[in-house]
Amino acid sequence: MAGIIVKPRARIFHGHDWVYSSEIQKTFGNPQPGDVISLKDFRDRPLGTAIYNPDSQIVARRISRRKQKLELEFFKRRIQQAFDLRERAESIDINLCRIVWSESDALPGVILDRYGDHFVLQTLTLAMHQRKEIIIDAIIKLLAPKTIILRNDSPMLKAEGIETEITLVHGENPGPFTVTANGVIFEVDLLDGQKTGLYLDQLEAHAAIAKMAKGKRVLDVFCNQGGFALACAKAGAISVTAVDSSENAIAATVRNAELNGVEINAIKHNAFDFLKHCEDEYDLIILDPPSFTRNKKTLKDAMRGYKEIHLRGLKILARNGILSTYCCSHHATRELFLQNVVSASVDAKCALRLIQNHGQRLDHPILPGIPETEYLKGFTFELAPSR
Ligand code: SAH
Repeated sequence: MAGIIVKPRARIFHGHDWVYSSEIQKTFGNPQPGDVISLKDFRDRPLGTAIYNPDSQIVARRISRRKQKLELEFFKRRIQQAFDLRERAESIDINLCRIVWSESDALPGVILDRYGDHFVLQTLTLAMHQRKEIIIDAIIKLLAPKTIILRNDSPMLKAEGIETEITLVHGENPGPFTVTANGVIFEVDLLDGQKTGLYLDQLEAHAAIAKMAKGKRVLDVFCNQGGFALACAKAGAISVTAVDSSENAIAATVRNAELNGVEINAIKHNAFDFLKHCEDEYDLIILDPPSFTRNKKTLKDAMRGYKEIHLRGLKILARNGILSTYCCSHHATRELFLQNVVSASVDAKCALRLIQNHGQRLDHPILPGIPETEYLKGFTFELAPSR
């Protein structure tokens, strides 16, 4: 089998599964993009099996510490292991969750989300994309889906040289249908290019924040389809305002509010502008922006963005108010993000009390050896009495 000899001190010797181009000592046997290759250390000792793409910065991603073929049995075994993990987790509804999450489930590039009988698959690495038929077969055999939609629209695809596409690959188009999470009804339309599924990674936070919403004036900034807003409205908030710059997101929020029989004031607006010009006061503010940076280079700018929304948010927070803020950028660490809120609170001349930490649900498992698997962090603060 063709393969790679990895340089000493590469990250793979410290628990990682990736080999960057700068970590390759030698390539042998002329592997082709998308091939399964073997990894060896500089003393010719085996490090396992990997998938190969020389056109990507991450040239090899390990799939096993042993010899391994990318065959049906392998995919069935890995998907079953991933499924079992979710099924064991008390906080996860096995019918509405991420079933497979890439490196964290030892299937680099494969993401599988479940919405009841309907599944959304992503194949984000070349080798996995080339074998999507086998993966689809494994999903059908294990999970008996009505529908599988290949939703390859991630910006990551470009780096791997894969075309974007949204294709029905099994069953019939279910059209729009509803799912229920924490008692909140959402309409999803998995095939329609305008919409996506839900942010499954935030379902736990929606429920946690809803517990604090009763009798409060709530502001959900970057609301998407209204996850926090709906949960808070259902939990007895006295008013709920939701802001998103996407017209589709606002339309979905309005539709979901109707479905749940609650009132939400959904506003299509740029969050930065909205917060800057907002003259109302709120008791509970949620800030859940998209990742402001995908690399280290733009981290400084991203932190400026976070600081801006934190500062603006704190300025319109009522006495004893609650601020719940999230960051889904891997590069902004928990410490850095916390420091950012503190710095905003200094400028806003207020003191914050940390009342809850938030992170990834177990359907987005963190492998500490692969730091990139950790991305989502959040904090909920209470405004401390002025002192
Ligand atoms: N809070 C949501 C997830 C938010 S995802 C949940 O829990 O389900 C981030 C959202 O921010 C997306 O819906 C996107 O449309 C929106 N967004 C991105 N940039 C924005 C901006 N500058 N102003 C307002 N919304 C923005």
